[in-house]
Order: sequence, then structure tokens, then C-alpha cells
Amino acid sequence: MTYDSSNIFAKILKGEIPCKKVFENEFCLAFHDIAPEAPVHVLVVPKMNCTSFDDFARNATAEFMHGFFISVQKVAEMLGLPEKGYRIISNHGAFASQSVAHFHVHILGGKNLGRLLP
Ligand code: 5GP
Repeated sequence: MTYDSSNIFAKILKGEIPCKKVFENEFCLAFHDIAPEAPVHVLVVPKMNCTSFDDFARNATAEFMHGFFISVQKVAEMLGLPEKGYRIISNHGAFASQSVAHFHVHILGGKNLGRLLP
């Protein structure tokens, strides 16, 4: 999969499309999902052109990976999720129903989410 910079998250990162921002630093932008699937549903999007977790893991520097995943935890903490629990999900490819081809981590919480798959 080659990276297409016209994807919706690239446009949000460039400020061309608005979002409900939660957090931003040099590694990522975090914002509320437009169609939440839990009381808290936030997306953490790296400031790097990569299509999915698979691409990110292959190509990000160790420093960037560290900065990004520390940021995911920081966002979860800002949202008050660690005490009761939360889930992170990242979909890669067709079998996982990935719909936006820019790597992102979903943070879900705010209720008991049950087992991994419905
Ligand atoms: P995926 O299916 O790729 O794992 O997740 C993509 C997520 O992006 C979906 O949960 C979807 O609701 C969300 N999404 C798609 N378009 C937009 C948008 O324009 N703004 C925001 N905030 N979320 C979006």
C-alpha cells in the first residue's frame, strides 16, 4: 500500500478539515472520532506519512515510535481512562476493515468494553 496524502487524516493534520482536538505534540495529533463507538473514542494520529501500523513499525525511527506511543498513554491519562481501563486498537488492511490509510490508534473507554471481538 503506498501512502496517499489526500486521505482524511492527512487533511486534518494539515488543518484543512476541522477536528475536536484533545492533544497535540511533535509526534501526533489526537482528536475525537466522528462516529464514536464508546463513550470515549479518541484517535491518535502520528505526524508521519505511513499507511498503517505495519508501515509505521517497519519505517518509523525508534525515537519517533517511542514518542508516539508515550503520547498515546498520555492521551489516555488526560482522558482519565487508566484507573478503570481502556482499549487501544489499530486496524491494518482489509481483513481488519481499516478505512483510513494513515496509521492511527483508537483509544476506547468510558464503559466496560467486554471481550475483544463481538
Ligand atoms: P479505521 O476504520 O481506519 O480503523 O478507523 C477510521 C476511523 O476514523 C473511524 O472510526 C471513523 O469514524 C473515523 N473518521 C473517519 N473520518 C473522520 C473524520 O473526518 N473526522 C474524524 N474525527 N474521524 C473520522
